[in-house]
Amino acid sequence: SEDAELLAHLNDDYDDDADEVIAPVLAIIGRPNVGKSTLVNRILGRREAVVEDVPGVTRDRVTYQAEWLGKTFTLVDTGGWEHDAKGIHARVAEQAEMAADLADVILFVVDSRVGATATDEAVVKMLRRKKKPVLLVANKVDDANQEADASFLWGLGFGQPWPVSALHGRGAADLLDAVVAKLPEHSAFGGIIPRGGPRRIALVGRPNVGKSSLLNKMAGSERVVVDNVAGTTRDPVDELVELGDEIWRFVDTAGIRRRQHMAQGSDYYASLRTQAALEKAEVAVVLIAVDEVLSEQDVRILQMTIDSGRALVLAFNKWDLMDDDRRRYLEREIEQDLAHVEWAPRVNISAKTGWHKDRLVPALHTALESWDKRISTGKLNTFLGELVGAHPHPLRGGKQPRILFGTQVSSRPPRFVLFTTGFLDPGYRRFITRRLRETFGFEGTPIEVAMRVRE
Ligand code: GDP
Ligand code: GDP
Repeated sequence: SEDAELLAHLNDDYDDDADEVIAPVLAIIGRPNVGKSTLVNRILGRREAVVEDVPGVTRDRVTYQAEWLGKTFTLVDTGGWEHDAKGIHARVAEQAEMAADLADVILFVVDSRVGATATDEAVVKMLRRKKKPVLLVANKVDDANQEADASFLWGLGFGQPWPVSALHGRGAADLLDAVVAKLPEHSAFGGIIPRGGPRRIALVGRPNVGKSSLLNKMAGSERVVVDNVAGTTRDPVDELVELGDEIWRFVDTAGIRRRQHMAQGSDYYASLRTQAALEKAEVAVVLIAVDEVLSEQDVRILQMTIDSGRALVLAFNKWDLMDDDRRRYLEREIEQDLAHVEWAPRVNISAKTGWHKDRLVPALHTALESWDKRISTGKLNTFLGELVGAHPHPLRGGKQPRILFGTQVSSRPPRFVLFTTGFLDPGYRRFITRRLRETFGFEGTPIEVAMRVRE
């Protein structure tokens, strides 16, 4: 009964047939040191977006899921990125513009103690062109006496500045109320994705791995304009492509095509765009170029993809440049740095010549089937019973945690919950996960195994 209630709760937000809603996006922009990261932490209510004391430190994360008054939104953080690589002024404007392009609502943060600077003015000009809702945040108003400083910022033309102390929280709740009131129901960039439409692919990878070449090769002359296919409402950043006898949706291709002009902010831009594309996609093709060594950025983008919970296919591109030395080296890299994704299908391709491009579609199907897969509670518990019978959890201090039963609480990707009488060793959990994969497949999808400890 209690279990049944818990189960019902776990299954609550699990609806295979529901349309997917992409949460609206709030971007926080402003000069370095105005307090953007502090504000991100304040909004998230935790210390996840670490405030960096070291200038120029590049952070991995750029987007976070946040919630206020029951409304979920995606927070885009532009703090902490390559501060002085080419002059603050240009750098801030460029990164602010990228974030603003993706945003539904913008928080423009100014340091009320400093007032508006020339850099701020440049950002203002850019923001006016975007014609998106902007809330002006006068930060570092730590007490009532400092509110007068904030009022000078009226002059920037975004109406009443919101006096806030990101550090102490003063004014933050009012600001968030105002933000939530302005946020649309869903992101303009992506919006609502109907179920049953063409499957959605994101091509991701660091700059120059061959994403746009692959897109061109796949799309080629076969690019289709389809208006009356279910779920193909126009989205200018997506492209519908016919592969085999099916239509696929390549998401956020504008990001891929536009990269040329954005080479400057490449690392930041790649991260931002990658996360936006992953959010819309069902399956990601992570491209890795075999003519260069695997870089930190490759690994980071791969990790982002795994964390996104999307189905995954690894494409080793530029295979036409392969030679014996490089091949041996790649095998080592796969063993050392890609061992944690050995479950992902791998295809070797050449986007330039089109070699093996037809191998992508079967790999995508495999990954998506795994991603969609549902294991019945009966089958799962037969499996668990046999597994635990043959390999019981090791004794810990005279006690032995038992698995009472398990259930799959969602697909896309598959998520499992095990009800246990105590905490399972991480090693034992990994063992179960591995056996789940061996028994049920799941090639090409991340899977998650969580525990609920019942006393
Ligand atoms: P970012 O570069 O815009 O992300 O700025 P940070 O969030 O890293 O903040 C820069 C500095 O300003 C840090 O030392 C913060 O502690 C400080 N700071 C941020 N918000 C406030 C605030 O509301 N009041 C005060 N007094 N200091 C703040
Ligand atoms: P993106 O930045 O990931 O979109 O990469 P591009 O598609 O713009 O490719 C970067 C460079 O790599 C271009 O000069 C391409 O011609 C080249 N390139 C892409 N795919 C291949 C390939 O399979 N083989 C070779 N030799 N070059 C490639």
